[in-house]
Amino acid sequence: ETDAEKHEFQADVSRVMDIFIHSLYTHKDIFLRETISNGSDALDKIRYLAITDDTVLGDKKDLELFIEYDKEARTVSVTDTGIGMTKDDLIKHLGTIAKSGTTQFVEALSAGTDINLIGQFGVGFYSNFLVAEQIIVTSKHNDDSQHIWMSRAGNTFSVIEDPRGNTLGRGTRVTIKLKQDALDFVDEEILRKTVRKYSEFVQYPIYLRVKKDVSKEVEDEDSQDEEKSKIVREKVWQWERVNENKPIWLREDVSDEEYSSFYKSLTKDSKDPMSWIHFTAEGEVEFRALLYIPKTSSSDLFRNYYSQAAPIKLYVKRVMITEDFQELVPRYLSFIRGVVDSDDLPLNVARENIQHTKILKLLNTKITRKILQELQEMADEGADEDGFNEYIEFFKEFGKHIKLGLMEDGKNKARLSKLLRFYSTYNLNELTSLDDYIGRMKEGQEDIFFIAGDDKVKLDQSPLIQKLKKRGYEVLILDDPIDEYAVNSLHEYEKMHLQNVGIDEWSLPEENEEDARKKEKKLKKYYYVLTDWLRGLIPNKVNTVTISSKLDDEPSIVTTGDSGQSANMERISKHQAF
Ligand code: ADP
Ligand code: MG
Repeated sequence: ETDAEKHEFQADVSRVMDIFIHSLYTHKDIFLRETISNGSDALDKIRYLAITDDTVLGDKKDLELFIEYDKEARTVSVTDTGIGMTKDDLIKHLGTIAKSGTTQFVEALSAGTDINLIGQFGVGFYSNFLVAEQIIVTSKHNDDSQHIWMSRAGNTFSVIEDPRGNTLGRGTRVTIKLKQDALDFVDEEILRKTVRKYSEFVQYPIYLRVKKDVSKEVEDEDSQDEEKSKIVREKVWQWERVNENKPIWLREDVSDEEYSSFYKSLTKDSKDPMSWIHFTAEGEVEFRALLYIPKTSSSDLFRNYYSQAAPIKLYVKRVMITEDFQELVPRYLSFIRGVVDSDDLPLNVARENIQHTKILKLLNTKITRKILQELQEMADEGADEDGFNEYIEFFKEFGKHIKLGLMEDGKNKARLSKLLRFYSTYNLNELTSLDDYIGRMKEGQEDIFFIAGDDKVKLDQSPLIQKLKKRGYEVLILDDPIDEYAVNSLHEYEKMHLQNVGIDEWSLPEENEEDARKKEKKLKKYYYVLTDWLRGLIPNKVNTVTISSKLDDEPSIVTTGDSGQSANMERISKHQAF
């Protein structure tokens, strides 16, 4: 250790380690999940390189993970045959934090956020300090000799070339020297349980070193007979495979618990998913997909809509190709999580993007349809006996995405518009679909009326709609900033015109249109002197002053012309509300 080079941790790293070391968090076993997940990532990387050049695998052709413990030494080790780290990698990757959002994470943690979310923040490695008093990382990368990284937390770590030479072949061993209060983990059963709990769905075999009672045939020296042997029982160390063989998305008999725990291992979400879609697509392009709708859109908290990581992992023939494909679902469906596995794409698809955009487009189209279909089914189901309506819960959480879709996905406009929900004067506290609105329309009503703004109750009381309400017409209340944009991009629904009552150029549904028009014309003429005088008072502020038949008790109101931005949209663009 004296020959080792000393390096300083980035300040953020020291802060993160400090939080872990002093954490009273009870699920300390997540250190194993994070370390196995890093090993699995490293295996993904070498497997990906091997697609185009299998010489990178050298003698280490098997891609796997090994977990072992040593009671005497108080250590637990996780070894992978992944890509490994060069000396520079060790210093950079285990001494600094690459991902942005760390500061937020540290703040969130200090404010009591669940530590369970670490995986999302690129600090998983340091969770080893939940149980470790010292961490030793030995790593061999193809481009460098084997090096050892060592740390007892604090402000510095050391790195040294391994005096033993290359013992790993290729890959990384993380050895954790356990704190006195974490000695539970030098136990076969606890380790097995922990791996099953968190890492069952890791795509590489995970082996645990266990002591097994075995029978062995040995030569019986006491015996005169040369053939004679005897059976003895003895304890030997053996590798035991702990995780599943077959990827869950290829299986048929998956239980709800398995779906949920796969979702959690995939997304690092601590909640169960709201729903999932597991299907095989056939035809022009064949693939298998397992997609999830999360319960909450927690990701929005830390990432924004335009720079989100791709939500769906693409596998080709069971090999994870990339997590960076934005093309698999349209952006407005980026809250969906899951995996897509296809045999129809070449393994190097990520490198030859352009050539395969056609297949990717097909995948995108099919996946999108399937998701919208699933949502429609959820919507059709309605409320259960307890009054719980899953689709409404979904819409409250992800409705904005549906509305964005309406603006961005022309091809699926009809499907998306069926998924829209709005409040309405029919019931201010319940979201309604456009179909239900139409079902309640008055005889002879040709327009779907809506009013937009930011406050449900105020909108309901708006002078603009009192006359309509009095006559028994229902008005949709659009109180989400994005609503009016979405509805504007729709124009009509089921051949029914969507009428914004906040603008001038529309007429009340009258029993006798001819009479009404005559009456209005007469009134306009009669009051011309008054309206002309009013216009003269504020010449540059208004387009026109006119007589309206749409008001009830109120003497006057300011509205927007048909061609201009509505008052609500003007308000929104001023505030950039979304
Ligand atoms: P994340 O996995 O989100 O990047 P971690 O804190 O878990 O964040 O790991 C930090 C980095 O350390 C990884 O991105 C990787 O570069 C490196 N690393 C950790 N463990 C391994 C490993 N077993 N093999 C290769 N690299 C590793
Ligand atoms: Mg990690």
